[in-house]
Amino acid sequence: MPETLPSKADTGSDEYQSVLYLTGMTAGEMQTCLGYDQQYRAKQLYKWISGGAADFLLMNNLPKAEREKLKAMFGSVRSSTVSSELSDPDGSLKLQIRLRDGSAVECVLLEDIEGRKTACLSSQVGCPMGCRFCKTGQLGFLRNLGPDEILEQYHFLSERRGFISNVVFMGMGEPLLNLESVRKAILLLTDPEGIGMSHRKITISTSGIVPGIRKLADGGPQVRLAVSLTTARNDLRSELMPVNRSWALPELKDALLYYQEKTGERITLELALLGNRNTEMEDARALAAWMPPLKAQVNLIPWNKIPEMSFTEPDPTQLGTFAKILEDEGITVVTRFHRGRGVMGACGQLGDTLYADPGE
Ligand code: SAH
Ligand code: SF4
Repeated sequence: MPETLPSKADTGSDEYQSVLYLTGMTAGEMQTCLGYDQQYRAKQLYKWISGGAADFLLMNNLPKAEREKLKAMFGSVRSSTVSSELSDPDGSLKLQIRLRDGSAVECVLLEDIEGRKTACLSSQVGCPMGCRFCKTGQLGFLRNLGPDEILEQYHFLSERRGFISNVVFMGMGEPLLNLESVRKAILLLTDPEGIGMSHRKITISTSGIVPGIRKLADGGPQVRLAVSLTTARNDLRSELMPVNRSWALPELKDALLYYQEKTGERITLELALLGNRNTEMEDARALAAWMPPLKAQVNLIPWNKIPEMSFTEPDPTQLGTFAKILEDEGITVVTRFHRGRGVMGACGQLGDTLYADPGE
């Protein structure tokens, strides 16, 4: 288990990294920060920045002197830059984002067959959770992202690929351990005066941080919740996901039931399926027995290969049998095939380039 794995006493969730970066501010915060007397001036600036403008000098409804002043104060609108881009023939795009301190995260744009575009955003540099089958988990944890750094990933993807219909916090990191930044990012993504995305188009995925799930249930935002269950067998889950040693399956289920009671929302259970580890018929039956009375859809994610790991991809026949057992119990099952694989941008493959030298 990594040393940084949070214990029950230290869920580390409210660390709030960024204060004075424009992409992470509301119009009201911009007004205060910049000392504007008039609210409309801050609103103009906010409109530009939430609309994706990256250069102060092009904000042509602001007085020239004001644009120049902003340029002199901040340099550029965004604090991060794109340090590499990889496109996959399946339409996916992976960006490596260089952050202001030289560290890096990755984000991915996934396009489905109907052309719907989903931005998969990172919430932390690395991840402290150490899930055995996940590339990001093996990198360790560096720091939380600020709301501006989360929003900037969205803007970089949208300026390359146009309208983004969905956002999922399924990139690097555990979003419920950086809940305040994620909350602020969602506030900005859903602001009708800004980006204006519906809460229903946003998903937070967690490895099972029980206090975070309860905080979300109590304080919102009410977005979609996905939980990386992986397996309904407690011992196996503790082996594959160290988080289960802090919050075991019964506690996780209580928190999910609490969440459903508070929000009325159906949740998604995600299962990364590993060949010969959690994909047998008895694993499917254990899941079907574990679920009631949870109202949940199950997403099966065949494990995406990570060369240095000894896990294997699941056998397609086994995968089919697994899904059928659940479906026969009336459970909705979606199998998510490997979008983004060609750029190592599929689930769990992020983090190839995390600590690359900024000067390279
Ligand atoms: N940290 C959050 C969100 C990011 S991980 C969480 O764990 O929920 C996104 C999903 O990718 C998780 O459901 C995880 O179980 C899955 N995953 C991780 N590594 C994978 C891999 N190599 N192949 C397939 N899915 C993987
Ligand atoms: Fe972190 Fe999620 Fe990977 Fe687990 S699966 S190590 S929580 S990113």
